[in-house]
Amino acid sequence: MKKYPASLTVLLFFAAASVASAHPGHSPADGIATGFSHPLGGWDHLLAMLAIGLWAAQLGGRACWRVPATFAGVMALAAIAGHYLGVAPGTDQGIAASVLALGLLLACAVRLPVGAGLTLAGVFAIFHGLAHGAEMPATAGGLTYGAGFLGATALLLATGLGLGFAAQRVSSLTPRLIGWGIAGAGVMLLAS
Ligand SMILES: [Zn+2]
Repeated sequence: MKKYPASLTVLLFFAAASVASAHPGHSPADGIATGFSHPLGGWDHLLAMLAIGLWAAQLGGRACWRVPATFAGVMALAAIAGHYLGVAPGTDQGIAASVLALGLLLACAVRLPVGAGLTLAGVFAIFHGLAHGAEMPATAGGLTYGAGFLGATALLLATGLGLGFAAQRVSSLTPRLIGWGIAGAGVMLLAS
């Protein structure tokens, strides 16, 4: 009975992997609701952000809050940079690669020093931020879109962290299985 929610989670991730595709694209959008729904509407952001939380829970200690906080902070900064620099080539591939890398880190339960973990979280966040800053219109619409996007990101990071703690309570193997599912989805995202 106790194992049910975890196996359900694993199943969900494999289901995610089977339909893995990038979201409909990074078209200009406005409004807090559009921004909020964006990371939830595509597997790439959704899985990467859940994986950051799951990985932070697996690392434990101070990494629990530092890794997600770094991801959210760097993503916001990268969005501002992307807004002024324009679309950087390869961001979608970078986002897909971040899903694969996070899945593998989780699957192999890689124990990294906090500094290295924070650096990696920051690098992954750059791709997610750049992609969205570039198309954000310099209007109130762009700002509310950004705020909505950041809100959904925070929610996904917290959900991943909660899932990670729950999965670990079942078995230390559970987060690793979820990691393999996420890595598989990352491969499909890269190939799509
Ligand atoms: Zn996007």
